[in-house]
Amino acid sequence: MSKFAAGKGFAVTALVAAMSFSGMATAGVTDKDILNDQATTGDVVSNGLGLRGQRYSPLKAVNTDTVKDLKAVWSFSFGGEKQRGQESQPMVKDGVMYVTGSYSRVFAIDVKTGEELWQYDARLPDGIMPCCDVINRGVALYGDLVIFGTLDAKLVALNKDTGKVKWKKKVGDYKAGYSLTAAPIVVKGKVITGVSGGEFGIVGKVEAYDAKTGKIAWTRPTVEGHMGYIWKDGKKTENGISGGKPGQTWPGDLWKTGGAATWLGGTYDPDVDLLFFGTGNPAPWNSHLRPGDNLFSSSRLAIDPDTGKIVWHFQTTPNDGWDFDGVNELISFDYNDGGKTVKAAATADRNGFMYVLNRESGDFIRGFPFVDEISWASGLDKNGRPIYIDSNRPGNPAAATDGKKGKAIRAVPSFLGGKNWMPMAYSQDTGLFYVPSNEWAMDIWNEPVSYKKGAAYLGAGFTIHPTNEEYIGVLRAMDPKSGKEVWRYKNYAPLWGGVLATAGNLVFMGNPEGYLMAFDAKNGEMKYKFNTGSGIVGSPITWEMDGEQYVSVVSGWGGAVPLWGGEVAKRVKHLNQGGSVWTFKLPKEDS
Ligand code: CA
Ligand code: CA
Repeated sequence: MSKFAAGKGFAVTALVAAMSFSGMATAGVTDKDILNDQATTGDVVSNGLGLRGQRYSPLKAVNTDTVKDLKAVWSFSFGGEKQRGQESQPMVKDGVMYVTGSYSRVFAIDVKTGEELWQYDARLPDGIMPCCDVINRGVALYGDLVIFGTLDAKLVALNKDTGKVKWKKKVGDYKAGYSLTAAPIVVKGKVITGVSGGEFGIVGKVEAYDAKTGKIAWTRPTVEGHMGYIWKDGKKTENGISGGKPGQTWPGDLWKTGGAATWLGGTYDPDVDLLFFGTGNPAPWNSHLRPGDNLFSSSRLAIDPDTGKIVWHFQTTPNDGWDFDGVNELISFDYNDGGKTVKAAATADRNGFMYVLNRESGDFIRGFPFVDEISWASGLDKNGRPIYIDSNRPGNPAAATDGKKGKAIRAVPSFLGGKNWMPMAYSQDTGLFYVPSNEWAMDIWNEPVSYKKGAAYLGAGFTIHPTNEEYIGVLRAMDPKSGKEVWRYKNYAPLWGGVLATAGNLVFMGNPEGYLMAFDAKNGEMKYKFNTGSGIVGSPITWEMDGEQYVSVVSGWGGAVPLWGGEVAKRVKHLNQGGSVWTFKLPKEDS
């Protein structure tokens, strides 16, 4: 070998070594990394700190004794004039944080220093139609890709080291009201996404794409009557009509614009090998136009990740007339019942009831209210179907003397929900769910409406108002076995951010007043709070680096509440916007 060849070889080796030191030449995120995410505390590579979405970390250096010393180590600004709601959950891998901002932006940040490595701004067209602020809830990581959904309904995969686009796919037509706001998830090499747009009469669906190439693998509509497809060797093949055939639970052609948007994305349980996606309201909101159950709206769906087939469904609000949706996360957990392990999953619905299901079959195990007042149903029957109070459904405009405005009623919860999108957490230590919830009511009435592409398709009007002077938000510790509330923390403004539970006997969450707060997981005593300068509507994470535990959360007030909140919006109008991510740890001497 010549001297020159040897020299060249050395240079390449040195370059690779240098890249390794800066964390840039690693293989990236594998399926195994994602499946093990909850247990591997050195990174956060899935939405929900594990595909089950438990938002539980086994870390405990930060605990009820030490959390009082938690200090901010850096804050990174999303900058620009683009602020509004920041609902992202950051990811951390190999010393880099990947976090999204409002208006479909992605940032890569050095977690040691808080310095920006790169930023990607999607060029959004005029005429995007996000219903509920220009938010984004986070990225998926796979291989050397950072994948996220945009407000013009595209999936975009970026190179993790440069932020350059590797592939881009159109998931839906933004001119028809489709948009993407949820964090996609990666299961067995496929990136899985839902869609937003239920307020515009889109047809909800769940889609899987090859995460490396962006090639579509399958699509599953979530409204009865629409054909699903699977791609084999690049060829599109029919894969069964959702629900078997059209028109069974819908009148006329309404299923063609039936909503059931899968706007919050999903979770996955490897144990039963099922995806769990929730579906939003049937369109339009005026339920008198669509007598029937309107499948698969306001439901939880279990979907085969390999084929996109619906394995089971559980509908929380049949013939939904309040925009309760049914998208809230279904979190898998096991519990012991008389020596037997029950493979369960729990969800806290906008409609005010919390449900525990058998996650293998979708069978109803139990359900119970998690809010103080429910006006529209007197309870649940043995199958978990609500027992409606007919007089508390908004009236039929066709029955009104002018035929224009149906009887207004007071409904509790309001359509913003007993709990909205903000994810709850499940602690494996306490066996409790920590549910971010709100106490509010609405006056709601129905109006005539017909579908027009790209226009709001509600047929309803509403005003939201608080139910008391002292608080709207309530963080609740709920026992999924007894249905009992173990403790509560009351918050003046509505809670709109996610929750994190840790083995340090702590529950973290932020509030619109700007505080990152930590509570004793057993009794709810507040152990820590720190003001981040704007309202928190994002979801906190924790991880460890060089033997130290870190906590990060995004700050930036916005989301649906200031846009839709009626009387409630007045209560929070003094809150300042922002856009930043904060990172905390204990001082060295404490750890
Ligand atoms: Ca991990
Ligand atoms: Ca909705």
